[in-house]
Amino acid sequence: MRENEFREWSARAAEWGADYRARLRDLPVRAQTKPGDVAAQLEPSPPEAGEAMEDIFADFERIVVPGMTHWQHPRFFAYFPANAAPASVVAEYLVSAMAAQCMLWQTSPAATEMETRVVDWLRQALGLPDRFSGVIQDSASSATLAAILVMRERALGWKGNIEGLSGQPKLRVYCSGEVHTSVDRAIWVAGIGQDNLVRIPVQGANRAMDSTALEAAISRDIEAGFLPAGIIASVGGTSVGGTDDVAGVVEIARRHNLYVHVDAAWAGSAMICPEFRHWWLGVEGADSIVFNPHKWLGAQFDCSVQFIANPDEQVRTLAIQPEYLKTHGADGMINYSEWSVPLGRRFRALKIWFLLRAYGLRHLRGMIRNHVAWSAKVADRLAAEPGFEIVTPPMLSLFSFRHLAVPDGDLDAHNLDLLRRINDDGRIYLTQTRVDGKVAIRFQAGQFDMREEDADMAVD
Ligand code: PLP
Repeated sequence: MRENEFREWSARAAEWGADYRARLRDLPVRAQTKPGDVAAQLEPSPPEAGEAMEDIFADFERIVVPGMTHWQHPRFFAYFPANAAPASVVAEYLVSAMAAQCMLWQTSPAATEMETRVVDWLRQALGLPDRFSGVIQDSASSATLAAILVMRERALGWKGNIEGLSGQPKLRVYCSGEVHTSVDRAIWVAGIGQDNLVRIPVQGANRAMDSTALEAAISRDIEAGFLPAGIIASVGGTSVGGTDDVAGVVEIARRHNLYVHVDAAWAGSAMICPEFRHWWLGVEGADSIVFNPHKWLGAQFDCSVQFIANPDEQVRTLAIQPEYLKTHGADGMINYSEWSVPLGRRFRALKIWFLLRAYGLRHLRGMIRNHVAWSAKVADRLAAEPGFEIVTPPMLSLFSFRHLAVPDGDLDAHNLDLLRRINDDGRIYLTQTRVDGKVAIRFQAGQFDMREEDADMAVD
């Protein structure tokens, strides 16, 4: 690419982005390609000589775009949303152009100071008390890993990082089977081991940990010589929205001096609406809370906020200061890389700042309320349809269902086939889960540009 072409191609990319968003409604939501279709069109070896941007861009449109699943499509009802509101995309263009490494205050003071401010804006928006400060992590997986490392170090009297885990008491961490697999992976990476992640059975419509079973498991482990370290509470689990009684979990944790991390990666965004905060009642007693503005709220991926009650513990666990990272003269400033596992950090606060200023909380609350209402309407219409069963009722804007109309047939295979046919059609996109071992189809409403007619089309 020639030096003077940057301006032209930046403008072309922005134009393309705007056109793309405008025509999304007419595209199939899920990529309709077959495995290997894209790879077959990519040159097997890298080019020796630079190519014309015109050719690269044409190939992008020809090869790449048809192989994309359109996550910003208004009828993307699969997984959870990964909303990138247009204002946050603009912020990301600017962040890309500046391309700063924002690991320390002095490597970009604006990034650090804005991060502190927008995390506090979000704290207020979610109704959390000011005992929480926070940090923007790349993903909820990283936030959960950081929390589990703190949990481990706190339980071991800060000896794990120094001495290693062999010779230390065996740690135990507690959660239900409804938590995201990022918890399992964090447990592996933290060296705690899958066998020491104790699954507590769930009960009730919310699929919440049974508090009697939780208390009993902790007591049994203490008696057996294990060292309980913490509890992971789920608020809006990925499968069907499984949600623990956070107040109850916090109470049990206090009794045993355990660390509590709350995973509200998806559901956290809904807490900007006061009427939904009953879902995480007692959250103010947690040590760490993660929610992803990059899911429902509209901040382009990646953008995961971890609220922390005692950041000193996290810095004590994760900070490391070789000479080349010392910030002489800037002591006392926050260096957010000391709050996370990776050193390098993108300027993620800018897209939150653009997002909140461009739309305002009032608009974002309205969007989330619409999603919850429209999802309930879809569930009601399906429930009234002969042959359909609502498997799990709406938790915010997520519910699951299955089709029952196969006399003596294999219901799992039938529902997977139904799902395949729906997604091959392309007008909407849904994904499956298993509830108590049986296949169910998930529906979540959460797209930034979704309208009520999109929900209607899903049922029709
Ligand atoms: N927790 C929950 C409840 C999730 O649904 C997800 C992802 O969907 C995660 C954690 C992991 O999020 P991330 O992709 O930001 O690591």
